[in-house]
Amino acid sequence: MKTLAYGFPKLGEKREFKSLLENFWKGAMTEEDLTKGIENLELWRAGLYSKYVDLYPSGEMSLYDFMLDMAVTVGNIPSRFGQYSGLSTYFEMARGKSALEMTKYFNTNYHYLVPELEGKEFQILENLPLRWYTFLKGKGFDPIPRLIAPFTFLKLSKAYMRVEGPLPMYEMDKLSKREDYEKYLPSLIRVYRELFESLKLAGAHTVILEDPALVFELDGWEWDIVEETYRSLQGILDVYLITYYDSVSDYKRYVSLPVRALGFDLVSNSENLQNLMKEGFPKDKALIAGVVNGRQVWRTNLKDKLKLLEDLSKLSQELVISNSCPLFHLPVTIEPEDALPEGLKERLSFAKEKLRELKVLKEAFLGEEQALKEVEDIDALLSQAFGRSEEVQRRLASLTDKDFQRDLPYKERVKIQRQILNLPLFPTTTIGSFPQTQEVRSMRTAYRNGKISEEEYKKFIREQIQHVIKIQEEIGLDVLVHGEFERTDMVEFFAEKLEGIATTKHGWVLSYGSRVYRPPIIYGDVARPKPMTLEEITYAQSLTEKPVKGMLTGPVTILTWSYYREDVPKKEIAYQIALALLDEVKDLEEAGIKVIQIDEPAFREGAPIKRKHWEEYFDWAIKAFRLCSRAKPETQIHTHMCYSEFNEIVPYIYQMDFDVISIEASRSKGEIIKAFEEFKEWDRQIGIGVYDIHSPAIPSEEEIRTILERAMRVLDKELLWVNPDCGLKTRRWEEVIPALKNMVKVAKDLREEL
Ligand code: GLN
Ligand code: ZN
Repeated sequence: MKTLAYGFPKLGEKREFKSLLENFWKGAMTEEDLTKGIENLELWRAGLYSKYVDLYPSGEMSLYDFMLDMAVTVGNIPSRFGQYSGLSTYFEMARGKSALEMTKYFNTNYHYLVPELEGKEFQILENLPLRWYTFLKGKGFDPIPRLIAPFTFLKLSKAYMRVEGPLPMYEMDKLSKREDYEKYLPSLIRVYRELFESLKLAGAHTVILEDPALVFELDGWEWDIVEETYRSLQGILDVYLITYYDSVSDYKRYVSLPVRALGFDLVSNSENLQNLMKEGFPKDKALIAGVVNGRQVWRTNLKDKLKLLEDLSKLSQELVISNSCPLFHLPVTIEPEDALPEGLKERLSFAKEKLRELKVLKEAFLGEEQALKEVEDIDALLSQAFGRSEEVQRRLASLTDKDFQRDLPYKERVKIQRQILNLPLFPTTTIGSFPQTQEVRSMRTAYRNGKISEEEYKKFIREQIQHVIKIQEEIGLDVLVHGEFERTDMVEFFAEKLEGIATTKHGWVLSYGSRVYRPPIIYGDVARPKPMTLEEITYAQSLTEKPVKGMLTGPVTILTWSYYREDVPKKEIAYQIALALLDEVKDLEEAGIKVIQIDEPAFREGAPIKRKHWEEYFDWAIKAFRLCSRAKPETQIHTHMCYSEFNEIVPYIYQMDFDVISIEASRSKGEIIKAFEEFKEWDRQIGIGVYDIHSPAIPSEEEIRTILERAMRVLDKELLWVNPDCGLKTRRWEEVIPALKNMVKVAKDLREEL
């Protein structure tokens, strides 16, 4: 038996990766020093890998993103970047003005850069796999080079494709037909073979190919392509094929692929295991069993895993134990966390600790006494109840259908709300946050570090609220917000206030490039000890006659953007969070707040990879939202969603039963509205984002108008709201004020014209 680990975070224990990149971008570091620093991080990673596991990869130390590295390796540089000239082109592609599109990697919070295929032949441009393999080799390590597999590379890419129509037109889109793949595969395979040859020459015998796209529900012809690909890659290196995030979609075809070893995620669900047990496993291959969870922070119950490994060892002579998916979804190490709730630390395991678990697991499997003792100790610890709250349990158990249903249907509610709010046609509003200036951030840090008192900090926040209310009134917006100046992050803010959720001090994870975030940890039953937003919202409302929106983050988003416990179903956690939010909704209503927005940007993202699991997911996701938004009929409930592909999910969104939704629409020039048009029952008010807040550019009246007119063609004008497409916290005041003025102007003009 061997151990294998992959995807260990490249961030470094002190976020060194982030500093290196950002210093280089600022011009405070030379390319040479950057390279040196990155190499040191790679040596640190290899040192950890080799300390704990038998097999580990090289080639994971990308300067920005591993998909981008693959694109550069095979020479896939879109023509708008001109001649490739090393790092400057690399970073232009990653973060320049016309950078590649960035999108979420499967159902994770990691963002990759989408390769753009223009129909050119591939050829080795920079042999990054070889560079990193020889680097580690030269330092005395013995890694296995790893690459993204050709199929996943193509599946996650976009290509220029001819669009049917009177005139020949080309559009970037996902590859969707056999011909699309056939166009690119032969030259891609040739390049992979060349890469393999070069690695072999440098001493490699094996290669790890990551092919997670094999967990998508693929068509038969796609599996044909996968088979052809692996067949044509044979004969140079032994291939260790790895899949993760879900079960492989066609077990029989998967295990017949001509490779040396096959990897399975045995954590995300039980399908892979069921198939293994039912169908057996080929004698001539090694089985890579992903048993240590790479996506959640819990200490592994090694006793359970040991039992599993016993079973698996009957299926395969050659068992390799591994993490279930890349470890970069985890913070580096739990070591520095010294302020976690009592009893939590010993229940957690971050990336470094997961490596060690693999080692202990192997030792225990081989019968080593020390390891076996540890296995028993962990089991004893983990079988003790933790973080339970009787009260929350009772409340959950007492829920009935009525708790998921507002008292009046939308058609009745809307009449009452109209009377109370008395808003004009095309009401204008924003999504919640206003610029988080340097001043706001340093005051927060000062408060957190005890440099200023709570009194001073609160006074400062009140001044910010006064300012933002005044500005919104001057601009002439109809429904105001308090600006969210007291919030770091829309999830972390609530996590800090809720019981049963912990936040960390150093638990940073890369989401893309040098961008890091700290996911909270939902470890116990969730409850709200006291109001979370009431003070700021009611203060804001006291300053104006116009309605101020109560601003909450929804249950699905809090859950999806946190680590969560595994001893209860996700549905239950979502309901617990929803109940805590409901208490807040009630308090806000009580205090006279008439409009409440509950953001659910992660509603689509939380959906499982496989469509066949969607019904079940959306059922509880919808109910969680309905549970927390069960306000009085006269309270207008808003939700907000962004970065979503709405196309297939409008019917689910509709069932959330809000009164108003705001969505991102500006980047598609309002085309997104089509999805709502196609859903005939649609009768809810909708604020389509009329400009892109990710860009510093100030939108012209004309651009805003175009989007609104597009929307008016398909939706009743009575339903339309006017707003930017997301929160404004990353923008500067100089950008925000003129942009909102233009927006309000367009709304006013339209009111007059109609
Ligand atoms: N209310 C939040 C804000 O304005 C929404 C953020 C989001 O949707 N990502 O910042
Ligand atoms: Zn948003």
